[in-house]
Formats: sequence, C-alpha cells, structure tokens
Amino acid sequence: MTEPLIIAIDGPAGSGKSTVARRVAAALGIAYLDTGAIYRAIALALSQAGIPPVEKDELRKALAGLSVEITPGGLKVNGREAGIEIRSPFADSIVSPYAALPSVREALLTVQREQGERTSLVADGRDMGTVVFPGAAVKIFLTASDHVRAERRRLELQARGDASTFGEVLERIRERDRIDSTRETAPLRMADDAVEVDTDGLSIDEVERAVLVHIAKKLQDKG
Ligand code: C5P
Repeated sequence: MTEPLIIAIDGPAGSGKSTVARRVAAALGIAYLDTGAIYRAIALALSQAGIPPVEKDELRKALAGLSVEITPGGLKVNGREAGIEIRSPFADSIVSPYAALPSVREALLTVQREQGERTSLVADGRDMGTVVFPGAAVKIFLTASDHVRAERRRLELQARGDASTFGEVLERIRERDRIDSTRETAPLRMADDAVEVDTDGLSIDEVERAVLVHIAKKLQDKG
C-alpha cells in the first residue's frame, strides 16, 4: 500500500489557510483536515462545561473522557455536532488560551495523526508542518499583514450577520497571533522545510494556483 500523501498548510489567523486548503484538497481529490475547527470545538465544549483554560485536574479529567469524531463532512465532540458557533467571535476569543495548554495539545495530537495514517489529506493549522506531520511531503506557510487578515475576517463575519468592526477584529487577530506564536508548546512557526506564500494582494484563486504549482514541483522533485 502506498503511504498517504500529507500536505501541511500553516499560518496565522485570516491568512486564507482554510479556504485554500479546502480548494487544494478538492483539486487533488484528497481529504481536508481543518485542525482549527477541532481546537475551536474543544474550547467551546470545555468552556460550556465550566472548565477554565488552566492546567488543573478537572481539565485533565475532561480531556481523558473526550471523544472527537471526524467524518468527511463534519466533526463531533462528545457526541455533539460542531456547528457554526465554532466560528463566532466568542469562539475566536476563547480558543487560543485553551490551545496553548500542553494537555489539550497532547490530547489532540493522536486524533490528528490518526487521520493522516488513514488517508491522504491537506491539513491546515498552526503546527502541521512542525509537530503533527513533520514528515509531510509538502509544507506551505501562508502569511499576510494583520490588516489584510483582519479585513478578510471582518467580511467573513459580516456575511454571517456579525457586525464586528475592523478595529475589533484586528484586536482579536493580534491577540490570537500573540498567544499562538508565544506559547511554549507547538507555537505558530514556519517549518524549516516549508515554502512561504505571502498572500497580501493576491486573490484566493491566485493563492490556490501558487500552492498547487508548488505542490506539483515538490512532488516531481521527490519523484
Ligand atoms: O485556524 P483557526 O483560526 O480556525 O484556529 C483557531 C485557533 O485554534 C488558533 O488561533 C489556535 O489558537 C488554535 N489552533 C492551534 N493549532 C492548530 C490549529 C488551530 O493552536 N493546529
């Protein structure tokens, strides 16, 4: 049996990762793994259970009993389907403190790796190329200025009826960037063997094309 093909796409919030990763997965005819959605759903489940983002026994107990089911079209945490609420400004504001905790990351490592052992996929997140899939065949790091990322995110929220202002969204993005890149465990960082794609001024179509060209080249080089 041939080994599953893993394409790792990392980058900060609003860099276009999920849209590009989803499109690239569809173009290659392989699965898409949205690891941010898993962190978001876990953060909401823990917060709803009244468990704060601190390394304590109650958190470890909750994680020991955690069930995460990933299906081609969905995600269930403790038997509950993760819905649009995982994309809310509230979820944006609580996810990074939970994602910074070593026990949360540890609990999700196996869940994510199992997906890559089963099937070829495009995985997006913060530590795909550095920690979860260090042996990924192709690693991409998407960037964009924080202003561009905040405006993209604001438009996304607006389309869903949320009236957050540009300033509010920018502040939340900067705070997430700060927590995600300064945490001790698996911080947001470009893998040494990743290629960086700066998406400022590029349309989604252009980013998708650049990523697909890089993947084709990399796979050809590998034979
Ligand atoms: O990618 P998205 O913006 O949905 O991710 C939400 C949050 O989940 C990030 O800000 C980060 O705190 C966390 N995350 C992570 N590692 C990943 C994916 C997401 O820490 N691989």
